[in-house]
Amino acid sequence: MKTIGELIKIPINKGRKCSECGREYVPKEYKNIGIVYVPGCTCLKKKQIQEEKRKQRIYNYALLKQRLKDADFPYDTLGKRLKTRTCENIETAKEYIEKFKPRTRQGLYFVGPVGNAKTTLAVCIGKELIRKGYRVKFIVFSQAIRLLQSTYGNKNQLDFMEQVKELAKYDLLIFDDFGREAYKDRTLTDVADFVNYLYTNMNNIIITSNPEMVEKIKQIPDFNAMFDRFFQMTKRKNFLKTSYRRCSE
Ligand SMILES: [Zn+2]
Repeated sequence: MKTIGELIKIPINKGRKCSECGREYVPKEYKNIGIVYVPGCTCLKKKQIQEEKRKQRIYNYALLKQRLKDADFPYDTLGKRLKTRTCENIETAKEYIEKFKPRTRQGLYFVGPVGNAKTTLAVCIGKELIRKGYRVKFIVFSQAIRLLQSTYGNKNQLDFMEQVKELAKYDLLIFDDFGREAYKDRTLTDVADFVNYLYTNMNNIIITSNPEMVEKIKQIPDFNAMFDRFFQMTKRKNFLKTSYRRCSE
């Protein structure tokens, strides 16, 4: 039986030149096909690799933009990065980013007076982790409760547990201003259910809070069990300076 090459007679690609460097294709013998002229240079391969890298860069950039948007960081922290910070607990933040692993129940609990040092530092940690490829969500704790409770009405398509699971999908959840929320009606059990799920699911969380708020919610009857669980998931770090805005920026 004759090979395809013998049937066609003229070898495939004979006389072709590389469109990049102009070098003529070189003959190569293939079993069952015969002679085929192929590039004798690596131009096309290099071009292909470059093109793939370019696409990857565009994809990564779009993904980064998307994830930063999805994280929902407060407007006044736009453009802020960890490398320009000089606030307290900066070493803790760096170490946390360095050792971060999703689903390890490793969290931080930033306590300090009003001023945006705690929140900004938490946001900066979130941003660096997004850059490392993780998914992060920033949410004021009272808003998280409102979001969960919106599942009782018809504005939210999800039911309560579905919404809890939706939040628990993030590699890091930042709960800002914990303790400012009002605990009435079913809020206490809702928060307990939420925190229990995050605990069992091994979620990583960062909480920011003011000391007065912590004292206030500690007074709520039946709150302690839930409170303990929350703080089993975090390491407490104190911010002692009175106002970050005044002393640093
Ligand atoms: Zn070439």
